[in-house]
Amino acid sequence: MSLPPELSCLQVGAGAEGEAALATLEKQLICPICLELFNKPVVILPCQHNLCRKCANELYQPSLFQARTTMQVNSGRFRCPSCRQEVVLDRHGVYGLPRNLLVENIIDVYKQEVINNSKAENCKTQKQSVCEKFDRVFLILEERRKVMTQQISSEQEEKTSHAQSLVRRYGDSVEANSKLVERAVSSMEEPDMAAFVQFCKMFLKNQFCKMFLKNQWCKMFLKKQWWKRSLKNQWWKRSLKNQW
Ligand SMILES: [Zn+2]
Ligand SMILES: [Zn+2]
Repeated sequence: MSLPPELSCLQVGAGAEGEAALATLEKQLICPICLELFNKPVVILPCQHNLCRKCANELYQPSLFQARTTMQVNSGRFRCPSCRQEVVLDRHGVYGLPRNLLVENIIDVYKQEVINNSKAENCKTQKQSVCEKFDRVFLILEERRKVMTQQISSEQEEKTSHAQSLVRRYGDSVEANSKLVERAVSSMEEPDMAAFVQFCKMFLKNQFCKMFLKNQWCKMFLKKQWWKRSLKNQWWKRSLKNQW
């Protein structure tokens, strides 16, 4: 909305300057009778001062009463409350005074501007509150990030030191084993080695079978011995019983 020149002071925005400009304008829009913002319709007096038509009518009423008593109905006079200049009304009374449409428009714009300012203020407060919440969340996340980073780095250090200790402990044997494997591979490449390995395998298998059978035979022998001994014991017990 484009503002009339009288309202150019409102274009400074919703900051402190805007609020000061609004306060200055508000003083210009206060009715000297009801001490509030002019109520529409607003009438302009011949001295260029403004009044709510309702307030002008209240000023005019005593003279109307006077007029009634002197039979001069619908005509009268009163003094401007701002400059004390006498205002003479025609037969239309306060309805004969011209309306000040410019002031009425200014009041509309002023009211709209006050609403906009309060909305802007609300918006600013909400924005500030969101920013504060965001800052708090950011601080919490930052704190958690630090804790997690510390935890991860300590775990990493622990694992690294464990791996290093494993390397220290088993490094030599791994090296020896790899050398052994290398030697075995190179010896496998020698001629007749595969046949020799096959022979060793068969030999070990035979030895294992023999040991197993021997073991079985030993078990059976021991079992027989145990039976014999147990029968002998029983015979002794019986003979002793008979003697007693
Ligand atoms: Zn008034
Ligand atoms: Zn005046």
